[in-house]
Amino acid sequence: MVIKSAEFKTAAVRSGQYPDDHLPEVAFAGRSNVGKSSLINCLLQRRKLVRTSRTPGQTQTINFFLINGLFYCVDLPGYGFARVPMAVRAQWGPMVESYLGGRPNLRGVVQILDARHPPSPDDLKLWNWLIDRKIPAVPVLTKADKVPRTKWDAAASRASLSLGIPRDRLLLFSSETRHGRDALLLQVAAWIDP
Ligand code: GDP
Repeated sequence: MVIKSAEFKTAAVRSGQYPDDHLPEVAFAGRSNVGKSSLINCLLQRRKLVRTSRTPGQTQTINFFLINGLFYCVDLPGYGFARVPMAVRAQWGPMVESYLGGRPNLRGVVQILDARHPPSPDDLKLWNWLIDRKIPAVPVLTKADKVPRTKWDAAASRASLSLGIPRDRLLLFSSETRHGRDALLLQVAAWIDP
């Protein structure tokens, strides 16, 4: 798939604000600061479409980006950062659950994890929630460039064991080197145009 256009469409905190044009959607979820904005920008080949933040947990809206006029990339707010105020953290669950659990347009979820660390309890909570609801999801270990190549297999095995999936269902990614971009784009294309 060639990305011809990518534009910010809307930000939402509740379902009435989601786009109403019935296009397929692929959502991106991950802990604050995991590298989600960088991954989306890398995937879409847009340098600053999604704002990367040095202040974690700032984005608390669900942001919709229209791609090629055909589908949406949906940037979910990051979760699980200790410095995010309690009141903001409390909004995360209901806002994200009502999107993920009640959106007929949703075709799949890219769950972004840090290649350097085992999945966190919050990561596992979201992953298991998605699996319980049979929502198609793929885990992506990003910042792979920060892990020596010789340790990639160990990192992937550790994550796949903890998520309870085969090793080959998991992608390694780097927004720095663009490793994994083609594979992730293929997955997105398969979801939106099965
Ligand atoms: P977000 O909060 O999940 O959207 O994370 P960002 O995309 O803003 O990234 C957080 C920090 O990690 C930034 O300083 C990025 O430059 C850095 N980062 C993100 N992805 C990568 C990656 O693949 N490799 C490296 N080395 N750094 C990354």
